[in-house]
Amino acid sequence: FSPDPPAVRPTPQQTDDGRLVLTPELSAEIAQASAELETATPQEILRWSIARFAPKFTMATAFGPEGMVILHMLSEFAPETPIFNLDTGYQFPETLALRDEVARRYGMEVELKRATLSVEEYEAQNGGPVYRHSPDRCCHNRKVEVLEKAVLGQHAWASAIRRDQSPDRAKAPIVGWDKKFGLVKVSPLANWTKKQVWTHITEHNVPYNPLHDNGYTSIGCWPCTRAVGVGEDERAGRWSGFAKTECGLHSQ
Ligand code: SF4
Repeated sequence: FSPDPPAVRPTPQQTDDGRLVLTPELSAEIAQASAELETATPQEILRWSIARFAPKFTMATAFGPEGMVILHMLSEFAPETPIFNLDTGYQFPETLALRDEVARRYGMEVELKRATLSVEEYEAQNGGPVYRHSPDRCCHNRKVEVLEKAVLGQHAWASAIRRDQSPDRAKAPIVGWDKKFGLVKVSPLANWTKKQVWTHITEHNVPYNPLHDNGYTSIGCWPCTRAVGVGEDERAGRWSGFAKTECGLHSQ
């Protein structure tokens, strides 16, 4: 696979406040690249993204297995890629410990991005934990608003979603326009299965969250995550008891 030489592509246009402009040319380029990259490997997709958008190519990770696989791949050919984590204040200690492990193993620093209000201030202003009654609002305040700020000035971001994780994610393009956050979104693992992810982790000794060994198949904030039982969907442990299935980062 050989992506178009980035030199022949014009620099994407940006507004004064740092948002990318979806011109007809960029829209056509995204559609073409997505079609061409449909059968490419995740490494090829990442290399294309970096050739096209770096240094304005970034990645958000919650240190899930898919994110750890992408971090491992980037460590091999683009360790300078800026990576960040949305630190809601409600993450498991085991999740945050992976940040140190990534620094130790790969020499990559994952920046923690936080909401302006600490958890204590946020709960005090709202009469207690918001996740108990309004998880959509809590995710919006602790994740979506933080991501909006974090990607300002960036041209593209990588997500670690897989199409087989949920009906919503099944439609994710390899390269698409993220209209919610106003930049290009690349999903290098869109075509991978859970088995491929874990095979990569095992074969390359990629660090992962030890909670996965205790039935936590998908891990978010501790108040909104539980272990799943045999036969349950891999995301059944997220926001259990609520109709909510996504934090809002990947829904358009
Ligand atoms: Fe709040 Fe739960 Fe969303 Fe975390 S996952 S931001 S605790 S609602």
